[in-house]
Amino acid sequence: MATLEIKDLHAAVTTDEGAKEILKGVDLTIRSGETHAIMGPNGSGKSTLSYAIAGHPKYEVTSGEVLLDGENVLEMSVDERARAGLFLAMQYPVEVPGVSMSNFLRTAATAVRGEAPKLRHWVKEVKDEMAKLDISAEFAERSVNEGFSGGEKKRHEILQLALLRPKFAILDETDSGLDVDALRVVSDAVNDYKASNDVGVMLITHYTRILKHIRPDFVHVFAGGRIVESGGVELADQLEETGYVKYIGKQEPAS
Ligand code: ADP
Ligand code: MG
Ligand code: MG
Repeated sequence: MATLEIKDLHAAVTTDEGAKEILKGVDLTIRSGETHAIMGPNGSGKSTLSYAIAGHPKYEVTSGEVLLDGENVLEMSVDERARAGLFLAMQYPVEVPGVSMSNFLRTAATAVRGEAPKLRHWVKEVKDEMAKLDISAEFAERSVNEGFSGGEKKRHEILQLALLRPKFAILDETDSGLDVDALRVVSDAVNDYKASNDVGVMLITHYTRILKHIRPDFVHVFAGGRIVESGGVELADQLEETGYVKYIGKQEPAS
């Protein structure tokens, strides 16, 4: 049983005009086995939250804490965070020309597991996971994400999840750009992973439709750089009716 604790997290993004505060005091605790949906309007800071936890250099944590089983995540390098069991599937996965998917995955798995996976097992493992995600075999030799459609990038993010086996997975708009069939394939793969691993999931989304496939235990409304309301899955249903309008006024924390 593992715990990811985010305490009063403040973070700023570095822009050409200087630092701009985006996260304004995020509090959230995720335990193994729990799925937390983070839902909020565009520009509210959801991706910034995921980047701040993952250690993206552009996003500076100005105060607050992130603890994984009591260990200070913010003092870890990006590699150490991955080895500690954190995984981020990005809203906009990066392209890495010249590096094949198969090399990339094996290097990442070696880094996270602490030793190179035995080749024979590895080849089968990758093949099986690719089959589950309806990814055709030719993708193994293609450059990471280069020329991939939005949906193909998302499938490959979940392929990484399945192979890297994190304790905590942050899935940032994994549903965006997916058609109904792809959404089902990707959701099934996430559910599969959840069923056989004691993982904590932070599922960031703008829309409720992915929550019909991946059922959250908790739903949090994110607006103005922080969580403004928390509840169960009924909160997502309510958001579908009302949208985020009623939270706009709540965006600025009282000062
Ligand atoms: P969300 O994921 O909820 O749509 P983001 O975290 O992407 O929100 O963005 C929050 C705010 O921070 C937005 O106003 C966005 O323009 C700004 N922002 C995020 N990243 C950058 C960046 N790299 N450079 C400049 N502004 C940024
Ligand atoms: Mg956005
Ligand atoms: Mg985003």
